Amino acid sequence: MTTDLTRATAAELADLLGAGSVSSREVTRALLDRTAAVDGAVRSYLHVDEDGALAAADDVDRRRAAGEELHALAGVPIAVKDVMATRGLPTTCGSRILEGWVPPYDATVVRRLREAGMPILGKTNMDEFAMGSSTEHSAFGPSHNPWDLDRIPGGSGGGSSSVVASFQAPLAIGTDTGGSIRQPAAVTGTVGTKPTYGGVSRYGLVALASSLDQAGPCSRTVLDSALLHEVIAGHDPMDSTSVDAPVPAVVEAARRADVSGMRIGIVRELTGEGFQPGVQARFDEAVQHLVDAGAEVVEVSCPSFTYALAAYYLILPSEASSNLAKFDAMRYGLRVTPDGIDAPSAEQVMAATRDAGFGDEVKRRIILGTYALSSGYYDAYYGSAQKVRRLIADDFAAAFETADVLVTPTAPTTAFRLGDKLDDPMAMYLNDIATIPANLAGIPGLSLPSGLADEDGLPAGFQVLAPAMADERLYSVGAALEARLAAAWGGPLLDRAPDLTEVSR
Ligand code: GLN
Repeated sequence: MTTDLTRATAAELADLLGAGSVSSREVTRALLDRTAAVDGAVRSYLHVDEDGALAAADDVDRRRAAGEELHALAGVPIAVKDVMATRGLPTTCGSRILEGWVPPYDATVVRRLREAGMPILGKTNMDEFAMGSSTEHSAFGPSHNPWDLDRIPGGSGGGSSSVVASFQAPLAIGTDTGGSIRQPAAVTGTVGTKPTYGGVSRYGLVALASSLDQAGPCSRTVLDSALLHEVIAGHDPMDSTSVDAPVPAVVEAARRADVSGMRIGIVRELTGEGFQPGVQARFDEAVQHLVDAGAEVVEVSCPSFTYALAAYYLILPSEASSNLAKFDAMRYGLRVTPDGIDAPSAEQVMAATRDAGFGDEVKRRIILGTYALSSGYYDAYYGSAQKVRRLIADDFAAAFETADVLVTPTAPTTAFRLGDKLDDPMAMYLNDIATIPANLAGIPGLSLPSGLADEDGLPAGFQVLAPAMADERLYSVGAALEARLAAAWGGPLLDRAPDLTEVSR
């Protein structure tokens, strides 16, 4: 076991804390020091809550010393994406329009973290309102990829992926509407899970597209994701789409790491053409590892996936245009008074505030969504997209008759350079070609590192998809593959990433 507390996994920290070998204050302090050393270069955080994190750590240490029965992860610190409401802590969603807003309540996910005794280190950077694949749409500037600081850490949750990849936190919360947990995990060599839709409460998650959004774990190991998944999952009466069923046995599955006899389906439409050769090569090798571990490979076809991106970019903007209407200069954050108008009307203040407060990508999607929902166009656009969504769910249902899980490369390429796709929305959207179908169908997905691509030496991601409420299968496959890959590499992939302590920016 490692002695550097910042490099320990959450499972290792839980053991050390439980045995009384370290205090939560020591762990929290070590991580905050790491942030002070490297986050000037990585820029994972929008807000670090040093005092709050240390106070929570002290509280856990005190309760442990008093012999109180604590949660297994009590004292293990975590970072939270800035899209989750946190009582008393700024929540901006990466947008100027929410600057200065301090929520008066906790999201259910955050409440569960606090109840488990997990100190919250701070709030992580993201593309504005979770729209993007690179964090470049954040109003506060991008985060950087720890493997190469000139490259993107993925998005929208690039703050949560980079905070974990740069050893500033063992765990983070992300949200995934079209891939924002899985694609950032893929390009940073980390693990990320999007649970089944409704498996984790959306209460207090600032909505992008309510029928697609799902919060989930970001970590460096499959077991750590499972441990966090168990903390945050479960029914919540505050979310009308929350599933009222037992949480899948994800931790047990991650510990057993057994794939013998499992049927692994390769999705024909999501391999080969369009995928970077090095990403595809690592994917093919990973599949072979699963076969060596006793799995059986089958090929499946999901023809409707061709239309997934088009359907997503009608459904998402439609829902977003409605969800973002509440940012009206009256209720939250920013209020801009228009220049040169003596007694501006509410509408004029609203227009000036939304013009100044929203970035270009957000405006683009509000316009698209408003158009798609307008009378006369609704059936042609939104209605058609909903029909495609049904076909995609049917494709998954058929595929899961012959396969227990489906596998694909998570993203078509490794991390691209900051600035490379910023002026080309279509190129940016294509990053999610392999992750979006799961959101449209509401099924769970997990990404773990498959290795480094030969072309550029950067991490590639391997995605596992399972039927709704069979999230445990993601962890069986993920943990089995992770163990085989670590044995082949002689240790975790992230051990090969730059140390960063020499870097200053
Ligand atoms: N990149 C996708 C988008 O821009 C996914 C975002 C997300 O999952 N929040 O919509």
